[in-house]
Amino acid sequence: MSIPGRPAPDAPPPTGAPASPRDHLLTAGTTGQYRQVLAEGIARVSTRIAGTERPFSGVTPAALAPTVAAVDLDRPLGDVTAALDELEDVYLRDAVYFHHPRYLAHLNCPVVIPALLGEAVLSAVNSSLDTWDQSAGGTLIERRLIDWTAQRIGLGPAADGVFTSGGTQSNLHALLLAREEACAHATVARRDLLPRLRVLASAAGHFSVQKAAALLGLDDDAVLAVPTDAQRRMCPDALAAELARCQRDGLTPMAVVATAGTTDFGSIDPLDAIAARCAAAGVRLHVDAAYGCGLLVSPTRRPLLAGIEHADSVTVDYHKSFFQPVSSSALLVRDGLALRHATYHADYLNPAPVASGDALPNQVDKSLQTTRRFDALKLWLTLRIMGADALGQLFDEVIDTAEAAWRLLADDTRFEVVTRPTLSTVVFRYLPTGPAAALADDANRHARRALAASGLAVVAGTKVDGHQYLKLTLLNPQTTVDDVAHVVDLVAGHARRYVRERSAAGATACPVG
Ligand SMILES: *Cc1c(COP(=O)(O)O)cnc(C)c1O
Repeated sequence: MSIPGRPAPDAPPPTGAPASPRDHLLTAGTTGQYRQVLAEGIARVSTRIAGTERPFSGVTPAALAPTVAAVDLDRPLGDVTAALDELEDVYLRDAVYFHHPRYLAHLNCPVVIPALLGEAVLSAVNSSLDTWDQSAGGTLIERRLIDWTAQRIGLGPAADGVFTSGGTQSNLHALLLAREEACAHATVARRDLLPRLRVLASAAGHFSVQKAAALLGLDDDAVLAVPTDAQRRMCPDALAAELARCQRDGLTPMAVVATAGTTDFGSIDPLDAIAARCAAAGVRLHVDAAYGCGLLVSPTRRPLLAGIEHADSVTVDYHKSFFQPVSSSALLVRDGLALRHATYHADYLNPAPVASGDALPNQVDKSLQTTRRFDALKLWLTLRIMGADALGQLFDEVIDTAEAAWRLLADDTRFEVVTRPTLSTVVFRYLPTGPAAALADDANRHARRALAASGLAVVAGTKVDGHQYLKLTLLNPQTTVDDVAHVVDLVAGHARRYVRERSAAGATACPVG
């Protein structure tokens, strides 16, 4: 029952806009406002998601920029509905929608609803995971999920880890630990060792390895590309040869980075054989499973990760194959003590414990970040509501579709396919015949751009051996092989038209070839 003249604590404010700036803060007195505003936002997004007919509007930066530039940020609208109307124009209408079955470009997934619930809770409570005194249970939840993931990998009883912002940060963190371990075990001074440190990764590994090497002050040539086989997997014998060469040349390999799911091909390096080479040479093994980590929960394909349990560190991106919203990622390590290399104490935040037994679980001691989102909550609610098997089933479904898509493309003479997928990407290209074959690179580049401009579907592009290819990345269980067939027909149509026009122009003006 409400008192006349005073709103019930949960009732929306009677007259639309809040009267004072404080009414915008989420406090004991504004929960009604909070519910109302979020419900309105959720209603907008729901309408968009339900009504999206194509993954992208095809808008260009030049066409959209004036709309964004015209917003006067110093003149607030003062009204939620008006701001959401404006948001339709500056963002929602032209956003790229990953839930659409014909979005086939990058490693972006449709997100599971339990994780969105987690997202809403974690941002409202706004815990910060750097210290126990800013998070309490949040720290314990993150630690349970780290233990759960390490157990799925098989890293053993001393394992530990920390959530990160993404695979890029996880790889940087892993290589920081590798550099520090190399320095700790070296017989020469750090400044003499640094230019000699080497990281070995396959030619199909992720570019964040290079970026990390640069950030860590390593030599420009620190990352050595180990050759791959026809399936784009690192060759263990080539790795052994590179390790031997490093030894001959007085170089110190500080880590081998194996990839469990390369970004372009989804190829999984032979982890057992690579681990054996690393053990023989006494080199740390980091496994970048940013993409392939979904296999950890797959009911049928977990064996594809065999050997990952030998890793010293592992990158997992839950925001790829665990269907979590960005960001959700982690670095796991076999020996939790290695994380001490990121430990720095600040008197105001995480002072060094004065007595043993005095230590609080402060995750900042293990992280590259200080203030840090409680992203782990999304995975927690996902596991508690739908469960790991259900996630794994979703990943299995997209891998099945990729297999069917590969078969479709391999049987279609208009196209060439590079490898049979292990995960859920298919790299292919349209192949013009006869003299027009010389136009293949341009035709595929054009087809991708024209398709994106139409908004009917989005595919990615990549280079293979210097040539332009196209890539389908399947992460949406709702994408069917019929969707794929339709999209590749569109690709072929754009490419064919391009070739015809270029050839016609060439016949009259400048002959091709
Ligand atoms: C996506 C990806 C990364 C980078 O992860 P982000 O979360 O985008 O920072 C690293 N390695 C591989 C193999 C990836 O596919």
